[in-house]
Amino acid sequence: MPRPLSGFLAVLAAGGWLAAAWYLWQTSVPTGLDLPDLEPSRFFSRATLEEADDYGLVLDVLAVGAAAALVAVLAVYAAKGAAFARESAAGRIGTGMLLGMLGLGLVWLFQIGFGVAQLWWQRRHGLSRQGYVEWLLGDWWALGAEFLFVCLALVIVMGLAGPLGDRWWLAAAPAFVGLTLLFAFLLPYLLAEATARPDPQLAADARRVAATQGVEKVPLRVQEVSGHTSLPNAYAAGLGPSRKVVLWDTLLDDRFSDEEVLVVVAHEYGHHAQQHIWKLAGWFALFAFPGTAIVALATRRRGGMRRPEAVPLGLFLVVVLQLLAQPVSNEFSRRLEAEADWRALEATRDPEAAAGLFEEFTRLALEDPEPPGWAYFFQATHPSVMERIAMAEAWRARREGRSRAG
Ligand SMILES: [Zn+2]
Repeated sequence: MPRPLSGFLAVLAAGGWLAAAWYLWQTSVPTGLDLPDLEPSRFFSRATLEEADDYGLVLDVLAVGAAAALVAVLAVYAAKGAAFARESAAGRIGTGMLLGMLGLGLVWLFQIGFGVAQLWWQRRHGLSRQGYVEWLLGDWWALGAEFLFVCLALVIVMGLAGPLGDRWWLAAAPAFVGLTLLFAFLLPYLLAEATARPDPQLAADARRVAATQGVEKVPLRVQEVSGHTSLPNAYAAGLGPSRKVVLWDTLLDDRFSDEEVLVVVAHEYGHHAQQHIWKLAGWFALFAFPGTAIVALATRRRGGMRRPEAVPLGLFLVVVLQLLAQPVSNEFSRRLEAEADWRALEATRDPEAAAGLFEEFTRLALEDPEPPGWAYFFQATHPSVMERIAMAEAWRARREGRSRAG
Protein backbone atom coordinates (compact mmCIF):
# COMPACT_ATOMS: atom_id res chain seq x y z
CA MET A 1 0.00 0.00 0.00
CA PRO A 2 1.41 3.51 -0.82
CA ARG A 3 2.48 5.39 2.29
CA PRO A 4 0.05 8.37 2.16
CA LEU A 5 -2.89 5.98 1.76
CA SER A 6 -1.93 3.74 4.70
CA GLY A 7 -1.33 6.88 6.83
CA PHE A 8 -4.79 8.14 5.88
CA LEU A 9 -6.36 4.76 6.77
CA ALA A 10 -4.58 4.76 10.15
CA VAL A 11 -5.94 8.24 10.97
CA LEU A 12 -9.42 7.16 9.84
CA ALA A 13 -9.26 4.02 12.03
CA ALA A 14 -8.06 5.99 15.07
CA GLY A 15 -10.81 8.61 14.57
CA GLY A 16 -13.45 5.90 14.22
CA TRP A 17 -12.14 4.16 17.33
CA LEU A 18 -12.33 7.35 19.41
CA ALA A 19 -15.82 8.22 18.12
CA ALA A 20 -17.07 4.70 18.95
CA ALA A 21 -15.46 4.83 22.42
CA TRP A 22 -17.06 8.22 23.08
CA TYR A 23 -20.47 6.94 21.95
CA LEU A 24 -20.28 3.83 24.16
CA TRP A 25 -19.11 5.91 27.14
CA GLN A 26 -22.34 8.03 27.18
CA THR A 27 -25.12 7.08 29.60
CA SER A 28 -28.55 8.48 30.45
CA VAL A 29 -27.52 9.37 34.03
CA PRO A 30 -28.01 13.16 34.16
CA THR A 31 -24.68 14.95 33.76
CA GLY A 32 -23.71 17.04 36.76
CA LEU A 33 -25.69 14.80 39.10
CA ASP A 34 -24.37 15.72 42.51
CA LEU A 35 -23.64 12.56 44.53
CA PRO A 36 -23.57 13.43 48.25
CA ASP A 37 -20.48 12.31 50.18
CA LEU A 38 -21.97 9.92 52.76
CA GLU A 39 -20.27 8.50 55.85
CA PRO A 40 -20.53 4.67 56.02
CA SER A 41 -20.86 4.95 59.83
CA ARG A 42 -24.25 6.61 59.30
CA PHE A 43 -25.55 3.34 57.79
CA PHE A 44 -23.57 0.49 59.34
CA SER A 45 -22.44 -0.58 62.81
CA ARG A 46 -18.73 -0.53 63.53
CA ALA A 47 -18.70 -4.36 63.73
CA THR A 48 -20.31 -4.68 60.27
CA LEU A 49 -17.83 -2.22 58.75
CA GLU A 50 -14.88 -4.05 60.27
CA GLU A 51 -16.10 -7.44 59.07
CA ALA A 52 -16.80 -6.17 55.52
CA ASP A 53 -13.40 -4.48 55.47
CA ASP A 54 -11.56 -7.66 56.53
CA TYR A 55 -13.57 -9.86 54.22
CA GLY A 56 -12.98 -7.65 51.19
CA LEU A 57 -9.29 -7.12 51.88
CA VAL A 58 -8.50 -10.86 51.92
CA LEU A 59 -10.45 -11.44 48.69
CA ASP A 60 -8.70 -8.47 47.01
CA VAL A 61 -5.26 -9.71 48.09
CA LEU A 62 -6.11 -13.22 46.80
CA ALA A 63 -7.24 -11.74 43.47
CA VAL A 64 -4.02 -9.76 43.08
CA GLY A 65 -1.98 -12.85 44.03
CA ALA A 66 -3.86 -14.96 41.49
CA ALA A 67 -3.28 -12.37 38.74
CA ALA A 68 0.44 -12.13 39.60
CA ALA A 69 0.75 -15.94 39.58
CA LEU A 70 -1.06 -16.08 36.22
CA VAL A 71 1.33 -13.58 34.63
CA ALA A 72 4.40 -15.28 36.14
CA VAL A 73 3.40 -18.79 35.01
CA LEU A 74 2.60 -17.62 31.50
CA ALA A 75 5.81 -15.56 31.29
CA VAL A 76 7.87 -18.67 32.07
CA TYR A 77 5.76 -20.70 29.64
CA ALA A 78 6.20 -18.03 26.92
CA ALA A 79 9.98 -18.28 27.36
CA LYS A 80 10.26 -22.10 27.62
CA GLY A 81 7.04 -23.55 26.16
CA ALA A 82 8.11 -23.36 22.52
CA ALA A 83 10.49 -26.29 23.17
CA PHE A 84 7.49 -28.66 23.42
CA ALA A 85 6.42 -27.77 19.86
CA ARG A 86 9.30 -29.70 18.35
CA GLU A 87 8.29 -32.96 19.97
CA SER A 88 4.76 -33.08 18.60
CA ALA A 89 3.63 -34.70 15.36
CA ALA A 90 0.10 -33.31 15.46
CA GLY A 91 0.53 -30.87 12.57
CA ARG A 92 0.77 -27.08 12.75
CA ILE A 93 -2.65 -26.27 14.26
CA GLY A 94 -2.88 -29.48 16.29
CA THR A 95 0.48 -28.73 17.92
CA GLY A 96 -0.65 -25.17 18.59
CA MET A 97 -3.78 -26.51 20.30
CA LEU A 98 -1.73 -28.91 22.41
CA LEU A 99 0.51 -26.03 23.49
CA GLY A 100 -2.57 -23.93 24.30
CA MET A 101 -4.02 -26.72 26.45
CA LEU A 102 -0.68 -27.30 28.18
CA GLY A 103 -0.50 -23.58 29.06
CA LEU A 104 -4.06 -23.62 30.37
CA GLY A 105 -3.36 -26.74 32.44
CA LEU A 106 -0.32 -25.07 34.03
CA VAL A 107 -2.37 -21.96 34.81
CA TRP A 108 -5.06 -24.14 36.40
CA LEU A 109 -2.49 -25.90 38.62
CA PHE A 110 -1.07 -22.61 39.88
CA GLN A 111 -4.51 -21.01 40.38
CA ILE A 112 -6.12 -23.82 42.32
CA GLY A 113 -4.58 -22.77 45.63
CA PHE A 114 -6.07 -19.28 45.31
CA GLY A 115 -9.48 -20.76 44.47
CA VAL A 116 -9.42 -23.05 47.52
CA ALA A 117 -8.34 -20.14 49.78
CA GLN A 118 -11.17 -18.00 48.42
CA LEU A 119 -13.73 -20.75 49.03
CA TRP A 120 -12.39 -21.30 52.57
CA TRP A 121 -12.75 -17.57 53.29
CA GLN A 122 -16.31 -17.46 51.88
CA ARG A 123 -17.36 -20.55 53.84
CA ARG A 124 -15.88 -19.09 57.01
CA HIS A 125 -18.18 -16.05 56.55
CA GLY A 126 -21.20 -18.22 55.77
CA LEU A 127 -21.45 -16.92 52.18
CA SER A 128 -20.66 -20.18 50.36
CA ARG A 129 -22.40 -23.49 50.97
CA GLN A 130 -20.21 -25.44 48.57
CA GLY A 131 -18.02 -28.35 49.69
CA TYR A 132 -14.39 -28.49 48.51
CA VAL A 133 -14.90 -31.58 46.33
CA GLU A 134 -18.03 -30.10 44.77
CA TRP A 135 -16.13 -26.88 44.08
CA LEU A 136 -13.24 -28.80 42.52
CA LEU A 137 -15.63 -30.68 40.21
CA GLY A 138 -17.25 -27.42 39.14
CA ASP A 139 -13.81 -25.94 38.53
CA TRP A 140 -12.91 -29.00 36.45
CA TRP A 141 -15.94 -28.42 34.20
CA ALA A 142 -15.02 -24.74 33.92
CA LEU A 143 -11.54 -25.81 32.84
CA GLY A 144 -13.11 -28.04 30.17
CA ALA A 145 -15.10 -25.07 28.84
CA GLU A 146 -11.92 -22.95 28.79
CA PHE A 147 -10.10 -25.70 26.87
CA LEU A 148 -12.82 -25.63 24.24
CA PHE A 149 -12.72 -21.85 24.06
CA VAL A 150 -8.92 -21.67 23.73
CA CYS A 151 -8.92 -24.43 21.07
CA LEU A 152 -11.58 -22.61 19.06
CA ALA A 153 -9.66 -19.32 19.32
CA LEU A 154 -6.45 -21.05 18.19
CA VAL A 155 -8.16 -22.76 15.25
CA ILE A 156 -9.43 -19.36 14.12
CA VAL A 157 -6.14 -17.50 14.62
CA MET A 158 -3.78 -20.20 13.28
CA GLY A 159 -6.20 -21.09 10.50
CA LEU A 160 -6.33 -17.47 9.31
CA ALA A 161 -2.59 -16.90 9.83
CA GLY A 162 -1.88 -19.64 7.26
CA PRO A 163 -3.20 -17.76 4.22
CA LEU A 164 -3.17 -14.19 5.64
CA GLY A 165 0.23 -14.13 7.40
CA ASP A 166 0.59 -11.24 9.88
CA ARG A 167 -2.71 -9.71 8.73
CA TRP A 168 -4.75 -12.56 10.32
CA TRP A 169 -6.02 -10.17 13.00
CA LEU A 170 -8.08 -8.16 10.48
CA ALA A 171 -10.27 -11.25 10.00
CA ALA A 172 -9.89 -12.78 13.48
CA ALA A 173 -11.08 -9.71 15.42
CA PRO A 174 -14.50 -9.61 13.63
CA ALA A 175 -14.75 -13.40 14.05
CA PHE A 176 -14.22 -13.05 17.83
CA VAL A 177 -16.80 -10.24 18.03
CA GLY A 178 -19.26 -12.41 16.08
CA LEU A 179 -18.67 -15.36 18.41
CA THR A 180 -19.17 -13.12 21.46
CA LEU A 181 -22.53 -11.97 20.09
CA LEU A 182 -23.52 -15.54 19.23
CA PHE A 183 -22.64 -16.71 22.74
CA ALA A 184 -24.52 -13.77 24.33
CA PHE A 185 -27.57 -14.72 22.22
CA LEU A 186 -27.39 -18.44 23.12
CA LEU A 187 -26.64 -18.07 26.85
CA PRO A 188 -30.31 -17.92 28.01
CA TYR A 189 -31.04 -21.18 26.15
CA LEU A 190 -28.05 -22.84 27.80
CA LEU A 191 -29.36 -21.72 31.20
CA ALA A 192 -33.01 -22.55 30.51
CA GLU A 193 -32.81 -25.93 32.30
CA ALA A 194 -31.64 -24.27 35.53
CA THR A 195 -34.38 -21.63 35.70
CA ALA A 196 -38.11 -21.56 36.53
CA ARG A 197 -41.00 -19.10 36.27
CA PRO A 198 -41.48 -16.72 39.21
CA ASP A 199 -44.69 -16.67 41.28
CA PRO A 200 -47.58 -14.76 39.62
CA GLN A 201 -47.36 -11.73 41.96
CA LEU A 202 -43.66 -11.20 41.26
CA ALA A 203 -44.23 -11.79 37.54
CA ALA A 204 -46.96 -9.12 37.47
CA ASP A 205 -44.80 -6.61 39.41
CA ALA A 206 -41.86 -7.33 37.12
CA ARG A 207 -43.99 -6.72 34.00
CA ARG A 208 -45.01 -3.35 35.46
CA VAL A 209 -41.43 -2.10 36.01
CA ALA A 210 -40.40 -3.60 32.65
CA ALA A 211 -43.25 -1.77 30.90
CA THR A 212 -42.08 1.64 32.21
CA GLN A 213 -38.79 0.90 30.43
CA GLY A 214 -40.37 -0.46 27.24
CA VAL A 215 -39.06 -4.04 27.70
CA GLU A 216 -42.22 -5.80 29.00
CA LYS A 217 -41.77 -8.60 26.44
CA VAL A 218 -38.58 -9.77 28.19
CA PRO A 219 -39.50 -12.59 30.61
CA LEU A 220 -38.33 -12.96 34.20
CA ARG A 221 -36.89 -16.27 35.45
CA VAL A 222 -35.65 -17.55 38.82
CA GLN A 223 -32.48 -19.63 39.10
CA GLU A 224 -31.99 -22.03 42.00
CA VAL A 225 -28.55 -21.47 43.51
CA SER A 226 -29.32 -21.49 47.24
CA GLY A 227 -27.74 -24.96 47.61
CA HIS A 228 -24.32 -23.48 46.76
CA THR A 229 -24.38 -19.93 48.04
CA SER A 230 -26.26 -17.42 50.15
CA LEU A 231 -25.07 -14.48 48.03
CA PRO A 232 -27.88 -12.48 46.40
CA ASN A 233 -27.49 -11.84 42.65
CA ALA A 234 -29.33 -11.32 39.38
CA TYR A 235 -28.44 -10.71 35.76
CA ALA A 236 -29.71 -9.67 32.36
CA ALA A 237 -28.85 -12.10 29.57
CA GLY A 238 -29.56 -12.60 25.88
CA LEU A 239 -30.04 -10.47 22.79
CA GLY A 240 -33.27 -9.66 20.93
CA PRO A 241 -35.72 -12.59 21.19
CA SER A 242 -33.52 -14.55 23.63
CA ARG A 243 -33.48 -11.78 26.27
CA LYS A 244 -34.23 -12.78 29.89
CA VAL A 245 -33.88 -11.33 33.34
CA VAL A 246 -32.72 -13.96 35.84
CA LEU A 247 -32.98 -13.62 39.64
CA TRP A 248 -31.12 -15.94 41.98
CA ASP A 249 -33.50 -17.58 44.46
CA THR A 250 -31.26 -16.21 47.26
CA LEU A 251 -33.03 -12.88 46.67
CA LEU A 252 -36.42 -14.48 47.39
CA ASP A 253 -35.81 -16.09 50.79
CA ASP A 254 -37.45 -13.27 52.81
CA ARG A 255 -34.22 -11.47 53.66
CA PHE A 256 -35.23 -8.76 51.17
CA SER A 257 -38.52 -6.85 51.07
CA ASP A 258 -40.74 -7.09 47.96
CA GLU A 259 -39.84 -3.47 47.18
CA GLU A 260 -36.11 -4.23 47.37
CA VAL A 261 -36.49 -7.25 45.05
CA LEU A 262 -38.35 -5.01 42.62
CA VAL A 263 -35.39 -2.59 42.55
CA VAL A 264 -33.17 -5.51 41.48
CA VAL A 265 -35.70 -6.50 38.80
CA ALA A 266 -35.89 -2.90 37.53
CA HIS A 267 -32.08 -2.64 37.49
CA GLU A 268 -31.79 -5.75 35.29
CA TYR A 269 -34.55 -4.52 32.95
CA GLY A 270 -32.59 -1.25 32.83
CA HIS A 271 -29.63 -3.19 31.38
CA HIS A 272 -31.88 -4.50 28.58
CA ALA A 273 -33.65 -1.17 28.00
CA GLN A 274 -30.29 0.58 27.53
CA GLN A 275 -28.91 -2.21 25.25
CA HIS A 276 -26.02 -2.89 27.62
CA ILE A 277 -25.18 -6.33 26.23
CA TRP A 278 -24.77 -4.79 22.77
CA LYS A 279 -22.69 -2.02 24.33
CA LEU A 280 -20.45 -4.54 26.09
CA ALA A 281 -19.95 -6.38 22.79
CA GLY A 282 -19.09 -3.01 21.20
CA TRP A 283 -16.59 -2.36 23.97
CA PHE A 284 -15.05 -5.79 23.39
CA ALA A 285 -14.75 -4.98 19.67
CA LEU A 286 -12.85 -1.77 20.50
CA PHE A 287 -10.20 -3.87 22.24
CA ALA A 288 -10.33 -6.93 19.96
CA PHE A 289 -8.87 -5.05 16.96
CA PRO A 290 -5.83 -3.37 18.59
CA GLY A 291 -5.35 -6.37 20.94
CA THR A 292 -5.09 -8.94 18.14
CA ALA A 293 -2.94 -6.51 16.10
CA ILE A 294 -0.46 -6.28 19.01
CA VAL A 295 -0.37 -10.10 19.32
CA ALA A 296 0.25 -10.40 15.56
CA LEU A 297 3.10 -7.87 15.73
CA ALA A 298 4.73 -9.17 18.92
CA THR A 299 4.75 -12.84 17.84
CA ARG A 300 6.50 -12.10 14.53
CA ARG A 301 9.96 -13.04 15.79
CA ARG A 302 8.57 -16.49 16.72
CA GLY A 303 7.40 -16.88 13.12
CA GLY A 304 3.97 -15.30 13.79
CA MET A 305 0.76 -17.05 14.93
CA ARG A 306 1.07 -19.35 11.92
CA ARG A 307 3.64 -21.27 13.95
CA PRO A 308 2.82 -23.33 17.05
CA GLU A 309 6.05 -22.00 18.66
CA ALA A 310 4.30 -18.62 18.97
CA VAL A 311 1.30 -19.97 20.92
CA PRO A 312 2.80 -19.72 24.47
CA LEU A 313 3.86 -16.11 23.81
CA GLY A 314 0.42 -15.38 22.31
CA LEU A 315 -1.33 -16.67 25.47
CA PHE A 316 0.93 -14.53 27.66
CA LEU A 317 0.23 -11.40 25.58
CA VAL A 318 -3.56 -11.91 25.65
CA VAL A 319 -3.54 -12.21 29.45
CA VAL A 320 -1.26 -9.19 29.96
CA LEU A 321 -3.29 -7.03 27.55
CA GLN A 322 -6.49 -8.03 29.33
CA LEU A 323 -5.04 -7.09 32.72
CA LEU A 324 -3.83 -3.74 31.35
CA ALA A 325 -7.28 -2.97 29.92
CA GLN A 326 -9.06 -4.02 33.12
CA PRO A 327 -9.08 -0.65 34.97
CA VAL A 328 -10.67 1.20 32.04
CA SER A 329 -13.05 -1.70 31.31
CA ASN A 330 -14.06 -1.66 34.99
CA GLU A 331 -14.83 2.05 34.76
CA PHE A 332 -16.92 1.34 31.64
CA SER A 333 -18.79 -1.41 33.50
CA ARG A 334 -19.36 0.88 36.51
CA ARG A 335 -20.90 3.49 34.19
CA LEU A 336 -23.35 0.89 32.80
CA GLU A 337 -24.20 -0.31 36.32
CA ALA A 338 -24.77 3.25 37.52
CA GLU A 339 -27.08 3.78 34.53
CA ALA A 340 -29.03 0.59 35.40
CA ASP A 341 -29.35 1.88 39.01
CA TRP A 342 -30.65 5.20 37.66
CA ARG A 343 -33.17 3.41 35.39
CA ALA A 344 -34.31 1.37 38.43
CA LEU A 345 -34.86 4.56 40.46
CA GLU A 346 -36.85 6.09 37.58
CA ALA A 347 -38.92 2.90 37.16
CA THR A 348 -39.68 2.17 40.84
CA ARG A 349 -39.59 5.79 42.16
CA ASP A 350 -38.62 4.22 45.48
CA PRO A 351 -35.21 5.52 46.65
CA GLU A 352 -35.80 4.14 50.17
CA ALA A 353 -36.06 0.57 48.80
CA ALA A 354 -33.00 1.14 46.58
CA ALA A 355 -30.89 2.42 49.49
CA GLY A 356 -32.19 -0.44 51.68
CA LEU A 357 -31.18 -3.00 49.03
CA PHE A 358 -27.67 -1.59 48.69
CA GLU A 359 -27.28 -1.57 52.49
CA GLU A 360 -28.19 -5.28 52.53
CA PHE A 361 -25.32 -5.96 50.10
CA THR A 362 -22.98 -4.95 52.91
CA ARG A 363 -24.91 -6.53 55.79
CA LEU A 364 -25.65 -9.85 54.05
CA ALA A 365 -22.96 -10.18 51.36
CA LEU A 366 -20.19 -8.29 53.21
CA GLU A 367 -19.53 -5.93 50.30
CA ASP A 368 -17.09 -3.29 51.50
CA PRO A 369 -19.18 -0.07 51.32
CA GLU A 370 -16.06 1.95 50.51
CA PRO A 371 -13.31 -0.32 49.13
CA PRO A 372 -9.68 0.87 49.09
CA GLY A 373 -8.83 2.94 46.00
CA TRP A 374 -6.50 0.34 44.44
CA ALA A 375 -9.04 -2.47 44.80
CA TYR A 376 -11.77 -0.26 43.33
CA PHE A 377 -9.52 0.70 40.40
CA PHE A 378 -8.40 -2.85 39.52
CA GLN A 379 -11.44 -4.94 40.47
CA ALA A 380 -14.72 -3.07 40.95
CA THR A 381 -17.20 -3.72 38.14
CA HIS A 382 -19.99 -1.98 40.10
CA PRO A 383 -20.12 1.38 41.89
CA SER A 384 -19.40 1.01 45.62
CA VAL A 385 -22.30 0.51 48.04
CA MET A 386 -21.82 4.10 49.30
CA GLU A 387 -21.91 5.47 45.73
CA ARG A 388 -25.09 3.51 45.05
CA ILE A 389 -26.79 4.77 48.25
CA ALA A 390 -25.61 8.29 47.32
CA MET A 391 -27.29 7.96 43.91
CA ALA A 392 -30.58 6.96 45.57
CA GLU A 393 -30.29 10.06 47.77
CA ALA A 394 -29.44 12.24 44.76
CA TRP A 395 -32.52 10.92 42.94
CA ARG A 396 -34.71 11.81 45.94
CA ALA A 397 -33.10 15.28 46.24
CA ARG A 398 -33.84 15.95 42.55
CA ARG A 399 -37.48 14.87 42.96
CA GLU A 400 -37.89 17.11 46.01
CA GLY A 401 -36.15 19.97 44.19
CA ARG A 402 -38.51 19.52 41.24
CA SER A 403 -41.65 19.37 43.38
CA ARG A 404 -40.54 22.51 45.29
CA ALA A 405 -39.83 24.30 42.01
CA GLY A 406 -43.22 23.17 40.66
ZN1 LIG B 1 -26.19 -4.68 36.86
